Amino acid sequence: MTYPRLLIDTQKIKHNTVTLVKMAKDKGINIAGVTKAFCAQEDIVRAIIDGGVSYLADSRIENLRRLQKFNIPKILIRLPMLSQVDEVVLYSDISLNSEIKVVKALSESAIKFNKVHGIILMIDLGDLREGIFYEEEIFPIISNILTFKGTKILGIGTNLTCYGGVIPDKDNMGKLIRIGRMIEDKFGINMHVISGGNSSSIYLIGSDSLYGINNLRLGESLICGRETAYGKRIEETYDDAFILEAEIIEIGEKPTLPIGTIGMDAFGNIPNFIDKGIRKRAILAVGKQDIDDKGVFPLDKNIVILGASSDHLIVDINDCDYEYQVGDVINFKLAYGSILKAMTSEYVDKNII
Ligand SMILES: *Cc1c(COP(=O)(O)O)cnc(C)c1O
Repeated sequence: MTYPRLLIDTQKIKHNTVTLVKMAKDKGINIAGVTKAFCAQEDIVRAIIDGGVSYLADSRIENLRRLQKFNIPKILIRLPMLSQVDEVVLYSDISLNSEIKVVKALSESAIKFNKVHGIILMIDLGDLREGIFYEEEIFPIISNILTFKGTKILGIGTNLTCYGGVIPDKDNMGKLIRIGRMIEDKFGINMHVISGGNSSSIYLIGSDSLYGINNLRLGESLICGRETAYGKRIEETYDDAFILEAEIIEIGEKPTLPIGTIGMDAFGNIPNFIDKGIRKRAILAVGKQDIDDKGVFPLDKNIVILGASSDHLIVDINDCDYEYQVGDVINFKLAYGSILKAMTSEYVDKNII
């Protein structure tokens, strides 16, 4: 057995997926299960497929390649790199796009491989990450794409609450739906997909605002049981499908104020300390290379996270009832950012339970 170790409960992830898929399906919305946070790990992928997702979606070709064994449509959700169009066409059925030059290259590649690649045109509704921002540019781009023989426009989509923190609402969702209807009327094509965002759109499921949206791309909510517009827990889901176990390598009573002149910490920040006298603390063999120290939550509620460097996590155990010893293991629930890092870190053992 080796630590740090991630315990992954795929039954809980499946349960979360069943809950969200049902909630959405009742409103005519299907779900693309986003696998990037867990590096498309096979057992977790199987859990979300069993949970009923309609598509698998990932941002990385490496992960999409890993998904080939699953017979379900795959979407590349980061805009394709021009240098990777062949891989995009080979390993995904659909991609999110905003650059006509890239769509043209995808079409040429698809013709070469005797395939037709699906295109979802991204519309930027104000979050200012990817997508067509100016509405008057949309029709010319669609007309252009329609001349390509290797691609088929499946619909449009948007992404919110990522760069700008913009929350989906009646206005921006309404605009996406209106653009979809306009494209259908103007070009006589069917919008099979009107993809209304990620886990931040969940709070709108069941409201009029999503009427006309038929797809959401969900990652965090499936694995963390949390919507991301307001950070609220979703009913009938688990938030502890991932548990991190880390081992104590030092225990001692030390002052809470460092001794000497304070410069920068290991990451160039000037730390701030409050003097709480001498306290009992533990050092764990896990660090920022494996987790985000702001996104680990000890199951023992009396433990307080003090800080972390690349390979160490320092916690206050002064108020704990249990008498921790060197060699003991402390368990944590994880926020999305920590799951992402732990899954990506080759130093963290992954254990499916
Ligand atoms: C990561 C990502 C998602 C999933 O977001 P969650 O907040 O994890 O649900 C959806 N769409 C795109 C384009 C993404 O990059």
